[in-house]
Amino acid sequence: MKVIVIGCTHAGTYAIQEILKDHPDTEVTVYEKNDNISFLSCGIALYLGGEVKDPAGLFYSSPDALAKLGAKVEMKHNVTDIDQANKTITVEDLDQSTTFTDTYDKLVITTGSLPIIPRISGIDNDKVMLCKNWNNAQELFKAAPDAKRITIVGAGYIGAELAEAYSKTGHEVTLIDSADRVLSKYYDKSFTDKIEQAYKDHGVHLQLEETVTGFEGSDSLTITTDKGSVETDLAILCIGFRPNTALLKDKVDMMPNGAIVTNEYMQTSDPDIFGAGDSVAVHFNPTGQNAYVPLATNAVRQGILVGKNLVKPTVKYMGTQSTSGLELYGMTMGSTGMTLDAALSQNMNAKQVLLTVNYRPDFMPTTEPVLMSLVYEPETHRILGGGLMSKYDITQSANTLSVCIQNQNTIDDLAMVDMLFQPNFDWPFNYLNLLAQAALDQEDEG
Ligand SMILES: Cc1cc2nc3c(=O)[nH]c(=O)nc-3n(C[C@H](O)[C@H](O)[C@H](O)COP(=O)(O)OP(=O)(O)OC[C@H]3O[C@@H](n4cnc5c(N)ncnc54)[C@H](O)[C@@H]3O)c2cc1C
Repeated sequence: MKVIVIGCTHAGTYAIQEILKDHPDTEVTVYEKNDNISFLSCGIALYLGGEVKDPAGLFYSSPDALAKLGAKVEMKHNVTDIDQANKTITVEDLDQSTTFTDTYDKLVITTGSLPIIPRISGIDNDKVMLCKNWNNAQELFKAAPDAKRITIVGAGYIGAELAEAYSKTGHEVTLIDSADRVLSKYYDKSFTDKIEQAYKDHGVHLQLEETVTGFEGSDSLTITTDKGSVETDLAILCIGFRPNTALLKDKVDMMPNGAIVTNEYMQTSDPDIFGAGDSVAVHFNPTGQNAYVPLATNAVRQGILVGKNLVKPTVKYMGTQSTSGLELYGMTMGSTGMTLDAALSQNMNAKQVLLTVNYRPDFMPTTEPVLMSLVYEPETHRILGGGLMSKYDITQSANTLSVCIQNQNTIDDLAMVDMLFQPNFDWPFNYLNLLAQAALDQEDEG
């Protein structure tokens, strides 16, 4: 059987590895338009902030490694067309400037996502940069030393991490977002108030509820907004991603935003075409609906499932809670599922409990407060989402909440589920038990 994989960052790399492991007789060809594979974009801010010293460590595979597994790896090859009826694709060799066709039995679409670039004046100014792949990362690394003032447009988790990194390396940082809070899709206000204070303490200018309308200038850059203007040396656009799926437009089922819809076995509406990663929709367990959640966590899992299900439906996709974590100014943050705002905006009947407790007893030499949120359905008590934030590393507790949502657990389950007790780590009831007990108390009080 001949398999073609289009695109090779995370979903593509994992799909190829699994296909060749589970079906070693398969002939796998991968076309990747860039000159590198498997770059961990999450390391960009860590490198810019000085925490990661060598960006070479941000790759976990290579064209050679995939070739050793048996894949035919064609780098700097851009796929420009798919002919489903004849099962062929058109490929452009970017070095040779030639075009040819190739045939497949099964096709794997792992073309990922593209940064959203608004159509506003001056958007193509070379001082307006993107933060997505290794090429963008290299340009950012080069530009940072000469840019005293850096403005980040978009305060999602990528913009939030970049703003923190640059504020720690002596840059004058401005963070602009049209929402009224930073990280508004991931955390409720009690959390973001604290983060906003940390930004201010580190000299970051927050310009919230402000929308960028254009860019102009050559030596220095003027960013115009609906409220005024910002003078800066460099702007980095971090306002989100869209699925890179033009190749299959009108050829397979898609969500309105262009994310390819697959079944539980990562098969598109064309049974010979599979999809994984940022190019496809996810099943979002808190709502039971399809959603667009471009995260590496989904890409690597779905990539593996392509390999497992290529020949026959074998392992089902479990869906996602969109669990994520980050560290800002020494505070660890983890979130999973839905915030209260997100649940209410989808007309769900949801309630929230907030609790701050020290993670371990006060008789220990040190302890740290943990701020927690739990969002649940009052009728069924089903857990819909949660968040944690502390100087103590609470990120694994966000993973525990993720498993609870996955398994449709209730606040009653979480209140009493067995968790270890030892004063080095927690109380007789772990802080997650205490959070769910607070939710039950809230329900008892009506
Ligand atoms: C700065 C940053 C930080 C992030 N941090 C995290 C994090 O901490 N945790 C997390 O879970 N996620 C994180 N993400 C998200 C994560 O990087 C993406 O979800 C992940 O890269 C998706 O992988 P993918 O393989 O599906 O798609 P992509 O990474 O978009 O890769 C798609 C590949 O397809 C190739 N391609 C596209 N079209 C063609 C074509 N026509 N022909 C040939 N090749 C093609 C592209 O060149 C690219 O290499 C971060 C993203 C960014 C930008």
